[in-house]
Amino acid sequence: MSERLDVGILGATGTVGQELIVALATHPWFRVAWVGASERSVGKRYADATPWRLRTPRPDAVAEMVVEECVPVTAPRLVFSGLDSTVAGEVEAAFATAGHTVVSNARNYRMDADVPLLIPEINPDHLQLLEEQTRVRQWPGKLVANPNCSTIVMTLALAPLCQFGLTHVMVSTLQAVSGAGYPGVSSLDIVGNILPHIDGEESKMESETQKVLGAVTHGRVVPHEVVVSAQTTRVPVINGHTALISVKFETPPPPGDIIRAFRDFSGRPQAEQFPTAPCHPVCYLDDPNRPQPKLDVDREGGMAVTVGRLRECPVLDYKFIVLGHNTVRGAAGAAVLNAELMKVDGLVSI
Ligand code: NAP
Repeated sequence: MSERLDVGILGATGTVGQELIVALATHPWFRVAWVGASERSVGKRYADATPWRLRTPRPDAVAEMVVEECVPVTAPRLVFSGLDSTVAGEVEAAFATAGHTVVSNARNYRMDADVPLLIPEINPDHLQLLEEQTRVRQWPGKLVANPNCSTIVMTLALAPLCQFGLTHVMVSTLQAVSGAGYPGVSSLDIVGNILPHIDGEESKMESETQKVLGAVTHGRVVPHEVVVSAQTTRVPVINGHTALISVKFETPPPPGDIIRAFRDFSGRPQAEQFPTAPCHPVCYLDDPNRPQPKLDVDREGGMAVTVGRLRECPVLDYKFIVLGHNTVRGAAGAAVLNAELMKVDGLVSI
């Protein structure tokens, strides 16, 4: 693993694209060698095309790169996609058709039966869907996706609870403005306010969760039977999606078992020490004032979610709060972790 693999970023100038640039800047396995974006940016220096908005300074190595058109001519074999969903469907398919491996953040292919919807701590075995993908689509390349940002944050907290026979989930989210990209929602709409509608978000949380937690049988995902009811809102927080969750079990365990399950939860990224893996993907805090976006969003570089306030629920069995970084664990970091899993499994090569 000493040689770094050249990779490209589709949508490198956007919110997720910038997080990808940061996540890959010092990556031991991957090196950004190609950046692509829209007509607005093509032909410009990356530094000129990109209004840099992250607190981490823009890495020098990308400043002089020329932004390319998002066509698979000169791009490396492995590309990460932070493309707007209005174009991601067509562009990502063109790359997979041309033999590239696409690791996508966009929603377009997530629920397709032959597309792995990955959270490496939870369902690394879903990579076997790629055999079906090759058979059905005849793509020389491959495409995997990560779930929606709020789904990733919530599902990391639900996965440790599946062992207790999780049957029902009621969730309300308080989602950060960075989740809407840039410029996103108008400041006049969001300052001092809560927006009660995020287009498509509730159904994504309800269906993607079942796919991620599902089991692969005969080349297909049998969705997990958990029933999820989601309400999603946008709040004036910069980074960090918070989810207020109530859960019901076949047989409710004692609270101590639930807290232990959160704290002990880990998967292949931890066991095999992937570079981007948090040591503890789920951190449970006893302090009743946590989690808070201000204090907890950057836990383990933004790759761990923080859970707190476990208590009994008079309607379902238990309730708790989870917080995670939407553009890191919910997008760019999730995609990089997916690519690390694929590299370890021999599905990505030079
Ligand atoms: P964004 O800030 O609006 O960035 C969109 C990117 O797509 C930009 O690089 C833009 O390039 C590029 N683009 C737009 N139209 C294009 C075209 N016709 N051809 C080529 N490139 C084009 O959006 P974002 O928030 O980063 O989100 C990117 C994707 O990730 C979306 O699919 C989103 O749903 C998903 N996602 C976002 C989050 C989040 O928290 N933000 C979380 C999970 C998933 P220009 O700069 O040149 O216009």
